[in-house]
Amino acid sequence: MELITILNHCHRHRGFVYQHARFAADQRSIEVDVRPRAGSAAICSGCHQPAPGYDHLPQRRFEFIPLWGFLVFLLYRMRRVECRNCGVLVEEVPWCDGKHQLTRAYMLFLARWARKLSWKETAESFHTSWDKVCDAVEYVVGWGLQHRTLQSIRAIGVDEIQYAKGHKYLTLVYQIDQGITRLLWVGKERTLESFQGFFTVIGDQLAAQIEFVCSDMWQPYLDVIRQKCSQALHILDRFHIVAKMNKALDEVRAAESRKMAREGHEPLLKKSRWCVLKRKQNLTSQQNIRLRELLRYNLQTVRAYLSPETCLWWSRDRVW
Ligand SMILES: [Zn+2]
Repeated sequence: MELITILNHCHRHRGFVYQHARFAADQRSIEVDVRPRAGSAAICSGCHQPAPGYDHLPQRRFEFIPLWGFLVFLLYRMRRVECRNCGVLVEEVPWCDGKHQLTRAYMLFLARWARKLSWKETAESFHTSWDKVCDAVEYVVGWGLQHRTLQSIRAIGVDEIQYAKGHKYLTLVYQIDQGITRLLWVGKERTLESFQGFFTVIGDQLAAQIEFVCSDMWQPYLDVIRQKCSQALHILDRFHIVAKMNKALDEVRAAESRKMAREGHEPLLKKSRWCVLKRKQNLTSQQNIRLRELLRYNLQTVRAYLSPETCLWWSRDRVW
């Protein structure tokens, strides 16, 4: 089977034909000549309509997906057209958008790998440069943004990620509808303004259609959700609720422990942290005895432990 046959199967374009495939002078890459199909008109890159030819530009090399360790280049002389509407312009070709050295197919190929590997690893694996991988990712992301439809978002989730060293954050907003999970928006910082930026992008009408919002308990997020999505059911992150409850319980326990020490009682609450924080079934027998001792006292800590929310958390272990 010849390379041309394979190319015609996987990367065929009406209006163009592959001519010869050969090794380049360096013997490390394959070059494939491309020419316009006889009788097919060039397409104006301004108005995307066929237009009469004007002249040819020097040959360009468009990098295609490497094959068996060889770089592959498509060689083509771009035509210029004399368009009635747009004047003299370079033609539009289906394998490349004109600005890039890489073919669309190769950019898509690299961008897909760049999701699985680091950009550096991707570049090394396919004998290309980091800049080209970056270019490819930018191109694919740009295409995705241009063709993104934001109609009917029912559920969103907002989260922050930390990056670099120190406290630098990004705010991420995801669509989490059934069947469509995608990253919708990234904003710098995790402030009121950064999250509001997302709602500026989608507009009030779309925001009003959102039915579910998931977030953690970061105050600026809570404020923006209350302000922009008051109609939506707001679901809080379980981890943060439990963490807040544990913290509250800890504070009550510590304050009470200090008070008891001041009043000359034995340090009953010391070493009791895990008795009240752990789920009952996870307690060691020693901690169980300690918890029973604690329960004999009518302490605030014990009441916090037995508060309805806490009971819910303990008893509905499986539901949470
Ligand atoms: Zn035109």
